Amino acid sequence: MKIIVTGGAGFIGSAVIRHIINNTRDEVINLDKLTYAGNLESLSSIDSHERYRFEQVDICDRNKLDRIFNQYQPDAVMHLAAESHVDRSIDGPAAFIETNIVGTYQLLEASRNYWKDLPETRKAAFRFHHISTDEVYGDLEGPVDLFTETTPYAPSSPYSASKASSDHLVRAWRRTYGLPTLVTNCSNNYGPYHFPEKLIPLVILNALEAKPLPVYGKGNQIRDWLFVEDHARALYKVVTEGKVGETYNIGGHNEKQNIDVVNKICELLDELNPATNLNIKSYKELITFVQDRPGHDLRYAIDASKIKRELGWTPEETFESGIRKTVMWYLANLPWAHRVQDGSYQRERLGTK
Ligand code: NAD
Repeated sequence: MKIIVTGGAGFIGSAVIRHIINNTRDEVINLDKLTYAGNLESLSSIDSHERYRFEQVDICDRNKLDRIFNQYQPDAVMHLAAESHVDRSIDGPAAFIETNIVGTYQLLEASRNYWKDLPETRKAAFRFHHISTDEVYGDLEGPVDLFTETTPYAPSSPYSASKASSDHLVRAWRRTYGLPTLVTNCSNNYGPYHFPEKLIPLVILNALEAKPLPVYGKGNQIRDWLFVEDHARALYKVVTEGKVGETYNIGGHNEKQNIDVVNKICELLDELNPATNLNIKSYKELITFVQDRPGHDLRYAIDASKIKRELGWTPEETFESGIRKTVMWYLANLPWAHRVQDGSYQRERLGTK
């Protein structure tokens, strides 16, 4: 297959591309605008591969999208490009409306325009896979409830509202035009190459510099954590084996309170990189509670039984194994993280292919 991956220079998109190049014979065309969140250095292990191409494209630019569909003649689109950081959506929602809603609309139209003229067998085999979030469901009140694929949408933040909106567009393009779409909604991802503004890498990197480890409110928000490489495997399974028109929830079966996640990282760092030269006994001494974010959802938890039952996918990592791998990866790859923190990953963009 030839697969267009949008947002392939981001955290999850780069994991998807590394997975496809390393484990399949498929070709990948990575379409990415390279916003602050796009980092081509996350693809350095595969970027000279003959089955990989990069195109710097804004998904809101319909002319460029048409040119790329014509040039590459893809068999599938995996759509991950998005503005993805909830705090940024509260400070400035405009980019979220533009990329997540208008950009998804433009990509759907470019896909439909290309797909409608394909020969019948290729037309039937074409897939548009939209990657979304469990945050579209709002939050859960009881400790035993889980989000299923039929939970009503109730987004709380500008980010989740823009993702919910894009999910609805994708479903409408299926119902109205017959475009062969699939939607997945997943829980919080973590793992290698995660942008340092997100909780887990932020805590690891702040701790190593003896900076405060900020925890919102009391740290009692519950999230389900999914190791990014498990997610990449699930997404490839869905785009190749999923049933057209269906939604699949993807989760890690790892519900944790934020404070427990932060404590766990501190314990691993105490073991793997003791803070002896920082004048503290344990990294836990750096934990600092900060004012909660507005509209903060208390609990997300996902029922991922459908993808297990229908496609045979389950996560390989437990939270314990995945978080250990993640901390070890950051300790071994501090130059990658420092180049993100000091901005040099953007100043010295690698050449395009
Ligand atoms: P990310 O912020 O790390 O990466 C997003 C990528 O999209 C970046 O490379 C960026 O340059 C690119 N991009 C942004 N605007 C663009 C535009 N207009 N045109 C082209 N490219 C553009 O995001 P991520 O964490 O990898 O998330 C990927 C997808 O998965 C998103 O759609 C997100 O909503 C969804 N998701 C993420 C998580 C998570 O825990 N990270 C959880 C659930 C769902």
